[in-house]
Amino acid sequence: MTEALGADVVGAAPSGGWRSAVVAGVRRPVPRSVQLRLDVEDRVDHLPGQHYVVRLTAPDGYTAQRSYSIASAPGDPLLELFVERLDDGEVSTHLADVVEPGDVLEVRGPIGGWFVWDGESPALLLAGGSGVVPFVSMLRTARALRRTDLLRIAVSVRTLEQLPYADELLQAGALVVTTREARGIRPAGRLTGADLVPLWEPGQTVYVCGSGGFAESATGLLVELGVPPSVIRVERFGPSGAPV
Ligand SMILES: Cc1cc2nc3c(=O)[nH]c(=O)nc-3n(C[C@H](O)[C@H](O)[C@H](O)COP(=O)(O)OP(=O)(O)OC[C@H]3O[C@@H](n4cnc5c(N)ncnc54)[C@H](O)[C@@H]3O)c2cc1C
Repeated sequence: MTEALGADVVGAAPSGGWRSAVVAGVRRPVPRSVQLRLDVEDRVDHLPGQHYVVRLTAPDGYTAQRSYSIASAPGDPLLELFVERLDDGEVSTHLADVVEPGDVLEVRGPIGGWFVWDGESPALLLAGGSGVVPFVSMLRTARALRRTDLLRIAVSVRTLEQLPYADELLQAGALVVTTREARGIRPAGRLTGADLVPLWEPGQTVYVCGSGGFAESATGLLVELGVPPSVIRVERFGPSGAPV
C-alpha cells in the first residue's frame, strides 16, 4: 500500500452477508486470550478501525454472535482478530479454548464507518486493554503508508504481560501505563491528564477504545484538557456491545 486511504473512506461501511472463514492460524501470545488469523471467503478489504461479527451455531441451531475489531492492515491477505477470554463468556471462551486451525467460522463484515482512520490525518489513539486491537490495524496501516508520524498512542493495561501486541506498540513509541504493577519509576496507576498533555495537538481526531469504564474516564480526561468533544470517537467493548 503506498497511498493514503483518502478522507472519503469515512462513512464507508461495506458489510455484505455471512461468509465462511477458515481458521488459518491460532496463537496465544498473551495469557487468557487468542489471536486468530482467518482466510475469509470473498473478503472485502476493510478500513483500519472496522470490525467483524463472528457467529457461532450450536448443533441444536442456537446461535451467538459478537463483534471483534480487526487487527490486520487492509493489505494483509488474512483477517486477524484478537479475542480476550472472559471466564463466563459465551463466545470468547469458545474462540479461545476450542477453535483450532482448519475450523470454519461464520463472519460478517467489515462493519463500521465512524471509528475508522483515513490514513492521512493526525490521530491520538487511547486504548484500555484489548481496546488496542483496532489501533494495531491503524498502526500497521500507518507503517505501510510510512506515516507513523501521524499517530500517537497511549494504552492503559493491568500488567505489561497482558498487553496485546506489546512489542509493536512499544516500538511505535506508545505510552503504556500499567494499573496493577509499577513500570520503571512510575507506580501502578491509571492514565492521567498529565500523560495526555504532550500527546494531544489541535487537528487530531481522538479515538478511544476499551471497556465502558475506560471510555468514560478517558473521555473525561480529554474534555478536562479542552479537547473538543466533536473530535472524539469512542468504541466500547462492554456488555452492551454484544450482538450487532
Ligand atoms: C465494535 C466492537 C468491537 C469489539 N472488539 C473486540 C476485540 O477486538 N476483542 C475482544 O476481545 N472483544 C471485543 N469486543 C467485545 C466482544 O464483542 C464481546 O463482547 C466479548 O468477547 C465478550 O463476549 P462473550 O460472548 O465471551 O461474553 P458474554 O457471554 O457476552 O458475557 C459474559 C459476561 O461478561 C460481561 N462482558 C461482556 N463483554 C464484556 C467485555 N468486553 N468486557 C468485560 N465484560 C464483558 C457480560 O456482561 C457477562 O457478564 C468488541 C465489541 C464491540 C462492540
